[in-house]
Amino acid sequence: MAIQLVTTAAELRNAGARLLTHKQGRSQGLVPTMGALHEGHATLARTAVEQNDVVVATVFVNPLQFGDAVDLDRYPRTLDADLALLEEQGVDLVFAPSVEEVYPGGQPLVRVSAGSLGEKWEGTSRPGHFDGALTVVAKLLHYGTPAAGLPATGAFVTGGGGGLPSYRAYFGQKDAQQLALVRRMVADLNFPVDIVAVPTVRSADGLALSSRNRFLSAEQRDAALVLSRALRLVEERANANEPLDLESVQALIESQALVELDYFDVVDPRTLEPLAENCRNVPFRGEGLALIAAKVGPVRLIDNVPLSS
Ligand code: AMP
Repeated sequence: MAIQLVTTAAELRNAGARLLTHKQGRSQGLVPTMGALHEGHATLARTAVEQNDVVVATVFVNPLQFGDAVDLDRYPRTLDADLALLEEQGVDLVFAPSVEEVYPGGQPLVRVSAGSLGEKWEGTSRPGHFDGALTVVAKLLHYGTPAAGLPATGAFVTGGGGGLPSYRAYFGQKDAQQLALVRRMVADLNFPVDIVAVPTVRSADGLALSSRNRFLSAEQRDAALVLSRALRLVEERANANEPLDLESVQALIESQALVELDYFDVVDPRTLEPLAENCRNVPFRGEGLALIAAKVGPVRLIDNVPLSS
């Protein structure tokens, strides 16, 4: 069936309910995005299609999570290409609302607070970013809830086998802090949804795919490769149970003149607190997450790699 595009919450509810009825669906997946889609998003969508009977993707550039009006203005918007990419992955329905649809009263008075976990790392240079991101994720999780309301037939959809359809939402490991925060929000506030993490998709030379990579010149893109190279080095040392010796890796990053390093550290994957002792001079054991952020030319890039040994 061809992909359907809806722009209002009411249309989404009706179209979603119709799809669940039509497919006798027992599960629904939600893939939230800001558009300008690439193979990373395609992988999220494909994973959702593999695991669910009905898949809804959302395309919404959320003003609430942009501190910088210029960054918001220049964020790429490519809806036609996005629809084609999502259709190719087998997504059923795309919800691409206007800002007015999502925030009819202007800026919302009541928001989700990301707490102290939202203030570190990305939060330091982007104050309020995660409150804005979690607020829209909360709304999108509500919009995307399966069969939230009456389908066109007037009967409640029950997932074909009794009980409500299961509900999963897909997030990329690429945005590790966002993923940790979404997991905390869902646990702390009892959202009835399973969060599924999808590993970071990279180009062949290692650069993590990002909608913002298109703003890099060839020279800047080349320089940016030091980020994934640094992470790979840390990963290799962790896998070999060697000390991670972060200072030497940091020196490698800082040797790249076009890269302005913001942070680089190894943290606990859930609390994002630095793993001070376990990552410098003693052999690495256990679980960790190597985080990096840097400015390269006009673009702020983030990347990470989960560590386990
Ligand atoms: P965005 O459109 O940047 O808000 O991203 C939408 C979703 O796609 C988020 O869950 C991101 O973490 C995920 N995503 C973005 N880039 C990648 C990537 N390179 N690999 C895997 N997931 C990604």
